Amino acid sequence: MTDYPAPVRPDRRADLAAGLARVQARIADACVQAGRDRSEVTMIAVTKTYPAGDVVALAGLGVTDVGENRDQEAAPKAAEVAAAGVDVRWHFIGQLQRNKARSVVRYADVVHSVDSVRLARALDAAATGRDRPLDALVQVSIDGDPARGGALPDSADPDRGLGAVAEALAGAGAVRLAGLMAVAPLGWEPERAFARLAEVAAGFRAVHPEAVALSAGMSGDLEQAVAYGATHVRVGSALLGMRPTLR
Ligand SMILES: *Cc1c(COP(=O)(O)O)cnc(C)c1O
Repeated sequence: MTDYPAPVRPDRRADLAAGLARVQARIADACVQAGRDRSEVTMIAVTKTYPAGDVVALAGLGVTDVGENRDQEAAPKAAEVAAAGVDVRWHFIGQLQRNKARSVVRYADVVHSVDSVRLARALDAAATGRDRPLDALVQVSIDGDPARGGALPDSADPDRGLGAVAEALAGAGAVRLAGLMAVAPLGWEPERAFARLAEVAAGFRAVHPEAVALSAGMSGDLEQAVAYGATHVRVGSALLGMRPTLR
């Protein structure tokens, strides 16, 4: 049984509308500053920790793309939103365990966090038989720290090297290699992080010219990400409010 989401209260709806207007204005300004067309940047509303009712309300305000980072939370939320008859594109943006691939491909339209050949293969196997292709982005490590998430640029590692992960997705039958994703490392200036990402993306596109998506930028650094070519910004707290716990 899937719960039907309770409608949000009018004051919550007003808060979401105000947050959305502020974020849309920031993105529009960033596009003007960067000399880019507003249509080149998609805003993903990151709804982690917030209920399905907020997703339904955001969809009612025109939001088309929603991001989640944990399968345990996202799977029931996506089911509730679907039960309300609301259609949004679900982006899975969090670290993904291979044993969750089967669950994630049931609701996700895009997975942003593919950072190993083994995960690429697990997703491809899980997505086989889907009625529409699953888009996948390779998550890139900007600082090259192998202890944290992200495929490693300039590495020949057969499982974690960016080239190997991209090849695995490009050769997959049920998954489409769509581009790259990154998170600015803690302690790095956003400009420095996204300049490095743009450099990695240029090299990547020379090999995979069709994979043009660049998912970068969050509430605190979306302007810098747009300046360096982001096509998708992932915005949570600036839109929905501060989350109770950092994750
Ligand atoms: C939570 C999260 C975001 C959104 O972060 P905010 O700072 O709240 O905008 C973006 N990307 C990823 C991968 C996240 O986990």
